[in-house]
Amino acid sequence: MDIASLTLTEARDLIASKKISPAELLDALRARAEKLNPLLNAYNHPLWDDAAERAAKCDTSGPLGGLPIAIKDCIVVKNQPATAASKILEGFVSPYSATVIEKLEAAGAYCACRTNMDEFAMGSSTENSAHGPTRNPWDTERIPGGSSGGSAAAVAAGIALAALGSDTGGSIRQPAALCGCVGMKPTYGRVSRYGLIAFASSLDQIGPFTKTVRDNALLLTHLAGHDPRDNTSLRDSADDFAADLTCGVKGLRIGLPKEYFVDGMEPEVSAAIHAAVKHLAAEGAEIVEISLPHTHLAVDTYYVIAPAEASSNLARFDGVRYGRRCTDPRDVLDLYERTRGEGFGREVKRRILLGTYVLSSGYYDAYYLRAQKVRTLIRHDFTEAFTKCDVILTPTAPTVAFKLGEKTTDPLKMYLSDIFTIAVNLAGTCALSLPCGFSEKHGKPLPIGLQIIGRPMDERTVYRVAHHYEQTTPWHKKHPKLDFVTS
Ligand code: GLN
Repeated sequence: MDIASLTLTEARDLIASKKISPAELLDALRARAEKLNPLLNAYNHPLWDDAAERAAKCDTSGPLGGLPIAIKDCIVVKNQPATAASKILEGFVSPYSATVIEKLEAAGAYCACRTNMDEFAMGSSTENSAHGPTRNPWDTERIPGGSSGGSAAAVAAGIALAALGSDTGGSIRQPAALCGCVGMKPTYGRVSRYGLIAFASSLDQIGPFTKTVRDNALLLTHLAGHDPRDNTSLRDSADDFAADLTCGVKGLRIGLPKEYFVDGMEPEVSAAIHAAVKHLAAEGAEIVEISLPHTHLAVDTYYVIAPAEASSNLARFDGVRYGRRCTDPRDVLDLYERTRGEGFGREVKRRILLGTYVLSSGYYDAYYLRAQKVRTLIRHDFTEAFTKCDVILTPTAPTVAFKLGEKTTDPLKMYLSDIFTIAVNLAGTCALSLPCGFSEKHGKPLPIGLQIIGRPMDERTVYRVAHHYEQTTPWHKKHPKLDFVTS
């Protein structure tokens, strides 16, 4: 068993045929992680003893029997710390589990360790974590993307078989692209948000990170479904996402939005995407040009709506109920001010200020209301485009993984990392990123991600195209060389 390349499906079969036990599987991951995690910092809470106890109790006869899943630090698990990588939640232990956790456990899987992230999921590089940055397994001088950088790095480095992340503007797809794994942002309402520490509630979705498309479809099948505890959860949201995997791409119409192939994109990224399009055409797909004319407004719109919702969601962290409280407050105002002043990091404060501003009377109509109207235009763009095609192909990110510290002083530059992913969240539809090549210009090979966007509730077709592409190309077989640490 080569733990670094072992897929979730392979591990499931090994356990089902009793070739290995859940405890042996976990031990193999733990041994590798104990060597790699001090360097990568993919796990900000490496709870191996807790995982071992869960492994001993899980139901191995379930469809995910005995499989450990790493969990992003903003999804709560009963009796585990949940900090969203923020100082303000220091010491908080969750009294309950998120719906996705209950669902995983019902299928026989269990939670193994918590993954690092940008504080409250605000960022694109996992450098905004109170627990230090995560490093990219392909080049440890570089960032893994964000905000679910820990989940992506753990899967890419082979210290997790699969992980959960959350995506508000790209936080699953962009790190999946930069670390060379598969990440799905499901349709809004497909997966329950109950137990997800909220960033921007109208955009947030939980989704899986895996090494292969098949694993991803398998995991989503056990995450999706209607949940009465989340009032934005959709009825009929359960599905068998692996059902169409092997149907091929013949006759499918693939849309290429002309606005997404812009100047400023790294040439290797653009070349890899064009090669992927050519490949899918050769495999029998029909390529059609489409237009998403309001795309250029997506980042601006997002940075009004997301901070507005965040400023409201984060009001609850005031030292009274959750986590950290400042020492010896003089009065209640002092308690609020010092707890929040000491507990939140710079980026989170910037978002709260922005959000409070755009919601304040006098500015509400000019910014917030206007952004909501543009959001509707962006959504209509997709509805219109999907009358001409079945899926849309774009790059996931405009560049490969950048160096640690390269964009931390310029928030606008950082925000542009999500230029290709944000519109999908605003429209509420689904999209997946998978590897489609490597840039060889930076000394070490750096993964490039292909984004496949589907119609709302049509994850099946996205998986179908992704699986066909994956199985007819070599990219998923390549793993980062980390033997300098493991040997
Ligand atoms: N990078 C974007 C932001 O900073 C998106 C983050 C996310 O999807 N959670 O808000």
